[in-house]
Order: sequence, then C-alpha cells, then structure tokens
Amino acid sequence: MFVEFFPVVVTALPADEDHAPLLVDPAAARIVRAEQVVEGDTVLASFGAYGARMPVADYFNDQYTARPKPYDPTCGCGSCATMADHEGPVVDLGDDNPWDVCDPWPAADLVLIVPAAA
Ligand SMILES: [Zn+2]
Repeated sequence: MFVEFFPVVVTALPADEDHAPLLVDPAAARIVRAEQVVEGDTVLASFGAYGARMPVADYFNDQYTARPKPYDPTCGCGSCATMADHEGPVVDLGDDNPWDVCDPWPAADLVLIVPAAA
C-alpha cells in the first residue's frame, strides 16, 4: 500500500465545551485525503489552515460517520452549493451527521478520521 506522510499537527482534543467528547480511541486516528474516506469512517477534524507552515487539527463540534456519495452541486441541501466554484474534484462525505446536510470536501484536503476497520 502506498503511504503518504503529511506534515501536520494533530493536537489532543480541545477541552472547550464546543467540542463533543471523543467516542472513539484517538490512537486509532489516521490522516487521509478526503477522497480516501470510505463508508463508516469516523470523521473527526479537518486541517483548514493551509496558510500556516504546519496545519493544525481543527476538530468539528461533533464527530460523525462518513457515508460518501457522489458530489452534486445542485443537491439543494444548502451545503453542496458552497463548493460549486471549487476548482478541482469535490467529494461528498454524506449527510448522515448531526447537521443533516451534505459534507462536501475538496478531494485532496486532509481529514482526520478513525478508519471504519479500526
Ligand atoms: Zn448536498
């Protein structure tokens, strides 16, 4: 298997109350590209700060289980349209999450997940 190494900082879970407690073992977490997320992976964080030399884990206020599906910019969920102008491939990690909208990502973006098989 091909393994990529990503220069990012994965912080321990922030203690502030905006973030849900982890229901999974953080030691099992992996960093993958959004296009590599598969059904059942637990999505924990993104690495949004690409301006920084070392992107830092940005935890969502809740974790959720990925249910990838084809990205459709006209889906109408309110989230997909925000990625319509993105140059390059977009993947949709699904809408089985606390927000009930799709979660479109640039396919090459980094995601902190716990693999479904872990
Ligand atoms: Zn959508």
